[in-house]
Amino acid sequence: MEIIHVSAECYPVAKAGGLGDVVGALPKYQSDNGHIAKVVMPMYRTKFLYNHQWELVHEGEQLLGQQPFRYAVIREKTNELGFDLYLVDINGLLDREKVYGYDDDTERFLAFQIAVCDWLSKWQHLPDIVHCHDHHAALIPFLMKYGYAFSARLAGIPTVFTIHNAQYQGWIGWDKQHLLPAFDNWKWGMLDWDNTINPLACAIKCATRVTTVSPSYMEELRYAANGLENLMQYEAGKSVGILNGIDADVWDPQKDGLIVKNYDDHLVKEGKRRNKKELCGHFGLDEDKPLIVFIGRLVGEKAADILPEAIRNSVYQHRGAASFLVLGSGDSVVENQLEEVKHNMHGYVNTYIGYNETLSHLMYAGADFLLMPSRVEPCGLNQMYALRYGTVPMVRSTGGLKDTVKDFGEWQGYGIRFNHATVPDITHSVGRAIDLYSNKRDLYNWMRSYMMNIDHSWDASAEEYTRLYESIKNS
Ligand code: ADP
Repeated sequence: MEIIHVSAECYPVAKAGGLGDVVGALPKYQSDNGHIAKVVMPMYRTKFLYNHQWELVHEGEQLLGQQPFRYAVIREKTNELGFDLYLVDINGLLDREKVYGYDDDTERFLAFQIAVCDWLSKWQHLPDIVHCHDHHAALIPFLMKYGYAFSARLAGIPTVFTIHNAQYQGWIGWDKQHLLPAFDNWKWGMLDWDNTINPLACAIKCATRVTTVSPSYMEELRYAANGLENLMQYEAGKSVGILNGIDADVWDPQKDGLIVKNYDDHLVKEGKRRNKKELCGHFGLDEDKPLIVFIGRLVGEKAADILPEAIRNSVYQHRGAASFLVLGSGDSVVENQLEEVKHNMHGYVNTYIGYNETLSHLMYAGADFLLMPSRVEPCGLNQMYALRYGTVPMVRSTGGLKDTVKDFGEWQGYGIRFNHATVPDITHSVGRAIDLYSNKRDLYNWMRSYMMNIDHSWDASAEEYTRLYESIKNS
């Protein structure tokens, strides 16, 4: 089968979060399983672009409203990633360093999607499946079906739309309707949700199948989907939750080149000790105490707003028996509060405000516990990386966290779970972590080797996607 993934992110080309990890890994597993998997994404000005060799495969011209724009599609020459990678270049719109966060993001991703449809419509042999990810690629199923310039060639191709995060829907005011290419006006209702053009809602209506990144998240969206609850219920028949996997080549403590000491489940004790020593030495923390880390975007979804207070409270209540290290960036208020806690609790708490892929690997390897108090977690990859590196996840019972972490109070449990994203719940869990680390050493050691052997690789999930594609391929 030939599948083309359309996405705003793909690791290691450009990544802002879990979406990048998923689109960097799933196609690789699909190629390994004998499919032709391709990825198309915007050509940002990232390091990856300059360090690789490219060939031009297509050039075209399209309109964004009345404004003509030229685009080019280039392909990575060596197939180094294990799948065909295509980048769409649009001067003045996509040639930026960052993935998101610009005032003209609406125009940027609209132009990207128009260019992708135009390019696809020129293919001699069309792909079997077009798989779109999140709201930046969410208008593609609509444009393929109802865009006058594209539908003649593309309307018959089945589409899959994956919701990685339903909080962000890509809303576009109807005053910007003129930016869309001409479409069958009878179908305007497909674009609309609550009097705005809502790309996420549009994809849920138009795609042949809709997936979310975990089964529990699919359930949750039926009653909490940032305004799309009714739609999720209505489209339940064509929707399914498929748990993300992790790229077992990139996230492997035995081979990871970004950590100080490689290890497997037999050498976990010594391996983690060495990585922890490096981490604690660098951040001025006591390596004899349990080290609890947080890695992620500092936003409300991740409950980052209560993190400063939860850490302060935990250090007081548990008399400094654990150390904390936070890696993340996002809400500037939270960033400042964390800096303040770090300042006041020197030696117990430290932070790295920013994005640092290398440090994140060292933290998964060197930490004893990984805290994820998320309010919303569609799948969550961090806890799966933590499991692979023998780091006990401390998670709130929600979304994918519920699907992947079992509390150690249960039979063969290997993590810590709590119910509420609140300071008392986090403080209590920190107490359980300290007790586990200090007083239940045999259980703790058993948990570490057990969790490292849980298979969260893409094998099983990629298989589920294949079954889904097969079911719609000739529909
Ligand atoms: P989300 O996509 O909601 O941000 P996920 O758990 O699905 O959350 O994926 C987060 C990914 O981003 C993980 O690979 C995590 O290690 C990485 N990450 C998040 N913040 C940072 C950061 N500040 N520095 C390095 N990596 C980060």
